[in-house]
Amino acid sequence: MQLESGKSFEVRNLIGGTWETGNGHETEPVYDPATGETIAETPLSGRADVDLAVGAAEAAFPAWSKTPVMERARILFRFKALLEEHFEELRDLVTLENGKDKKDAGGEVRRGIEVVEFACGMPTLMMGETVRDVARGVDNISYRYPLGVVAAITPFNFPCMVPLWTLPVAIAAGNAYILKPSERTPLSAQRLGELLAEAGLPDGVFNIVHGGREAVDSILEHPGIEAVSFVGSQPVAEHVYRHGAAHGKRVQALAGAKNSMIVMPDAVLEKAVPNIISSAYGNAGERCLAGSVLVAVGDVADELVRRIGEAASAMKVGPGSEEGSELTPVIRDSHREKVRGYVDAGEEEGATVVLDGREPPLEEGFFMGPTLLDNVTDGMRVAREEIFGPVLSVVRVDSLDEAVEFTNGSSFGNACSIYTENGAAVRHWRENVQAGMLGVNIGVAAPMAFFPFNGIKNSFYGDLHATGKDGVRFFTENKVEAVRWLSEPGTVESIKRPMETGA
Ligand code: NAD
Repeated sequence: MQLESGKSFEVRNLIGGTWETGNGHETEPVYDPATGETIAETPLSGRADVDLAVGAAEAAFPAWSKTPVMERARILFRFKALLEEHFEELRDLVTLENGKDKKDAGGEVRRGIEVVEFACGMPTLMMGETVRDVARGVDNISYRYPLGVVAAITPFNFPCMVPLWTLPVAIAAGNAYILKPSERTPLSAQRLGELLAEAGLPDGVFNIVHGGREAVDSILEHPGIEAVSFVGSQPVAEHVYRHGAAHGKRVQALAGAKNSMIVMPDAVLEKAVPNIISSAYGNAGERCLAGSVLVAVGDVADELVRRIGEAASAMKVGPGSEEGSELTPVIRDSHREKVRGYVDAGEEEGATVVLDGREPPLEEGFFMGPTLLDNVTDGMRVAREEIFGPVLSVVRVDSLDEAVEFTNGSSFGNACSIYTENGAAVRHWRENVQAGMLGVNIGVAAPMAFFPFNGIKNSFYGDLHATGKDGVRFFTENKVEAVRWLSEPGTVESIKRPMETGA
């Protein structure tokens, strides 16, 4: 797949190694957010398509799960090499369908590759445990097994990385996998499917069913699917968790966020401000780890707001594909309207609009300017709801305890950052703040492949998180064996005898 401007793409389901062609689906347009042009149409699959994918995955599972784990890992090593070879192409595809700049898109592909690298260690990761002599002459041994057919449902904002959070781990562990990518960004997932086939993955181990709500509900209700990993907005995550669990599935559902960045009076502002700008406005604020509320502690507030306002208004708004673009478009016009609505609400509720990004700065595409709201207070919608756009709200408080109290008043618990050089303040914050991904002088505490992505409260539904050892446990189940041998070891001759006689 080579990217050319103005080129349109065909989006197809991948079932048992075959890219399906038109079967009368309704479709949803895929836009290039930088131009607003339609670049593809996503087929909206239904129950019958999910049935086909489950059938293909069920057919592939027995042989794949019995393939030695080192052979499975070797395919992932080849996949990793292909991802490196096609790194720039994948990065540009992410920029094209999502709109983010090349640096962010490259970062996303890199983080995804790191999960593949992690999953290449599956022979070690799948090791069980043993305890000898749990009773006299009895040993206990646990073994890890794949679950069977598993599925993942992913969001638009990381079209390459989020599928890669789970697919390498699930597949290396011996499962057969069905991906339902976001209907707004289906292209990267499709390319991953092509590269997996090139790496030698047997047909049916990785399948793609495109679509929206109907495809999701069909996955959740399908008796052939054992586990579902979901990443997306909070209301859908809750629905997926409840509906999937009601149908007997293991579910992990990573949800929305409203992340605070706490700035203490001793923060090193020259370095903190660019970092805060990148957290709040990078990827147009469309990150579940975006800093959305800046909690200014004590007398740092005026200087902080001045510096943030200055730096944000100097950001270069432009397409992600253009060198130097800092503020890229949001995903769709309808989403831009929603973000604008939040700024309107903030203004009506009494926030001070320091920077107003509501007027589109460019004619084409789905661009917004950076918005900075000051004097935001707890009761306002902009203080508590996920906006998912380039809008930063400033809340002023007098102490670290008040900052933590404000943060803990959120129903979400994805991430929180603190800017300070004071270790005691950091410790106090870490011990008391209710968030699962913490950043110290880091505005986006990016997920690492070997740690769990650790949202809490309404940012996560389930028990085992995605990635890291949690991911391995999510996609496997244990058998625990208690073993004892009843006869005496005997002599070499007595051991040989039954084999020789075939007894
Ligand atoms: P979304 O919830 O709209 O869509 C996610 C997936 O759910 C898509 O595949 C979509 O087709 C499907 N879907 C949408 N509406 C549905 C419905 N009513 N019923 C069933 N399925 C439905 O999310 P999005 O807009 O694509 O992604 C942005 C959201 O994802 C933000 O809230 C962001 O915080 C969250 N997110 C969270 C994490 C995390 O790790 N916690 C990571 C990335 C994104």
